[in-house]
Amino acid sequence: MTRLRLIAICAAASLAGCIASDRATRVGASGSGVPLRSAGTLLAGETLLVGETMGSAWTVKVNGTLPIPAEELRAGIQSRFEAVNQALSTWRADSALSRFNEDDSGEWREVDPELASVMSYALKLAEASDGAYDITVGPLVNLWGFGPDPATHRAPDAQAISRALSRVGWRKVEVDEARHRARKQPGVRVDLSSLGKGRGVDRVAEYLDAAGVSNYLIDLSGKLRARGHNSAGSAWRVAVERPIADAGTDSTAVEPEVVTLHDSSVATAGDYRRFFESDGRHYSHIIDPRTGEPVRHRTVSATSLDHDCMDADAWATVFMVMEPEKALALAAARNLEMLLIERGPRGYRLRPSAAWRAGRPH
Ligand code: ADP
Ligand code: MG
Repeated sequence: MTRLRLIAICAAASLAGCIASDRATRVGASGSGVPLRSAGTLLAGETLLVGETMGSAWTVKVNGTLPIPAEELRAGIQSRFEAVNQALSTWRADSALSRFNEDDSGEWREVDPELASVMSYALKLAEASDGAYDITVGPLVNLWGFGPDPATHRAPDAQAISRALSRVGWRKVEVDEARHRARKQPGVRVDLSSLGKGRGVDRVAEYLDAAGVSNYLIDLSGKLRARGHNSAGSAWRVAVERPIADAGTDSTAVEPEVVTLHDSSVATAGDYRRFFESDGRHYSHIIDPRTGEPVRHRTVSATSLDHDCMDADAWATVFMVMEPEKALALAAARNLEMLLIERGPRGYRLRPSAAWRAGRPH
């Protein structure tokens, strides 16, 4: 069990990131085009599989003997990610979501069951967050240059914002999950980027479980899910990273927080990896659907722990959109494990929910 096996399919630069990092995997906010997040040190007896999907790199660490050849397992993982991407991507013109988005008839139509199930889940979070989380932000995401349309890296004018806002509102979408049907008002565009990666990770976990792999750590660009233990016999550990963009100026502000995953998931959403700056202002890819503009509050990142990765991914975005005090109140009301990192006058501040603190007593 001493041989390290490395199935390298992703770019060489990404690969370096896989192996040249600390013991704990780091988790942080990310987005399309961001280099691979580190996967931590590979221990003897562990196999690292890598690939790319949804504009990001993925890694899967497996501990123990593989039930099927590594290349076959890698291909199986890739195809599970791709199936989710083909259902939920707004970047692919032929995805089930893009086809639904283009239908401006206002009538019920049959949709891919995966799409129906994810939209139905996301609409519940829209209601729970009082509309802060809203999957109909598509026109605004595009307008601000964070969607498939070419980016201008400039703030749009007020008229364009109010035109896009008139097409936004989660109540404009209805889903009949049992019958795999959905409808939306003409002009509405659904965006599931806030939870699609998490769903992909869950589908890969299902695949690994069915394939007989019982010790694994899946990482798709800061959305992670783990089961079992590493080859040292310990539960998989990941580190919640502090904001990279400001690391030089605030290097002592916050120590990374290490999280242990026991058959559970963790995801981070943040405003520091996908943004642009114009006229001295910072514009995040997280949009407040009530103003039509990128959020402006003090939250730098929100991390959520949950059993399923889709829940962790979606909730992390919810907490990123909400004002910090409201996010903390909602996490408390729902007993959710959440860690906010806030920008203060003198560096960063960690603001864990009670459930987060209870989950990791120091
Ligand atoms: P990433 O997947 O880039 O790491 P997130 O999971 O936080 O980060 O998802 C961010 C994406 O969610 C944005 O790029 C945008 O497409 C979408 N989004 C932005 N604002 C909202 C919002 N208020 N509600 C739901 N989705 C949003
Ligand atoms: Mg998210």
